[in-house]
Amino acid sequence: MIVTLNEVLKDAKKNKYAIGLFNTVNLEMAKGVLSAAEETKSPVIIGTAEVLLQYSSLEELSYLLVPMARKASIPVVLHFDHGLTEDCIIKAMTLGFSSVMYDCSTSTFEENMRKSKEMCRIARLFGASIEAELGHVGAADADVVESDAYQGMYTDPAQAKEFAEFTNVDALAVAIGTAHGAYKSNPKLDLIRLKEIADIIDTPLVLHGGSGLSDQDFKNCVENGVCKINIFTDINNAAAKAAYESYRPGCGMTDLMGSMVKYIIKETIAKMNIFGCTGKG
Ligand SMILES: [Zn+2]
Repeated sequence: MIVTLNEVLKDAKKNKYAIGLFNTVNLEMAKGVLSAAEETKSPVIIGTAEVLLQYSSLEELSYLLVPMARKASIPVVLHFDHGLTEDCIIKAMTLGFSSVMYDCSTSTFEENMRKSKEMCRIARLFGASIEAELGHVGAADADVVESDAYQGMYTDPAQAKEFAEFTNVDALAVAIGTAHGAYKSNPKLDLIRLKEIADIIDTPLVLHGGSGLSDQDFKNCVENGVCKINIFTDINNAAAKAAYESYRPGCGMTDLMGSMVKYIIKETIAKMNIFGCTGKG
């Protein structure tokens, strides 16, 4: 069944586990993630991001994802991740996405607050949930991630409180040292900052840049207030590995699809076990 973030994150926050958002760009990825969720009875968040639309458009994906999520036996949030333009976000909700993220993290604090609040008002009209980002989670480039400037983009707890109260968003992505893509060196997470934010706001917190973190990193983040974790690179890479290992001269795409789905299921279940969401769906 299709639900919003509000129907799954409240329990996750209360009972200290996290739900994964697994971005999917085609049928095999969607099958893999939803099969993993059903097999382990996990609530799941599935969707795509604006930067991933080059691989499958919102319309095309919605034709797959909406009916697949609807018939799933576990709660599925259909989420549009990292919406950058208002047009795309509204289109996603029109096509049946039950949740959106409006990423204004590169805007000024005031601008981010104003734009997030306005999109929150629009999301309510669709009955959709909304996530915003405060601070900025950048790309996983070793030089950048280790710089002082990058730490300067971490979420400020006092601002988080003001932001949450003003915008009333349903989930807040925080910047505490993670980055998008494949890490080139081990990320150092600012767990004290994370706990400080979790202690002063009720809004469920989101960890972006989850691919590549250690099991212990995930556990520490969940322990300190994270209830949604975004994963893309790890399942994307698992599928590519499956295709590589299964390839034989003369074989066709259909000979590779089964093992790609299997690897995605395995990787997704591994993450769900670490996040502690299995059996909660
Ligand atoms: Zn992200």
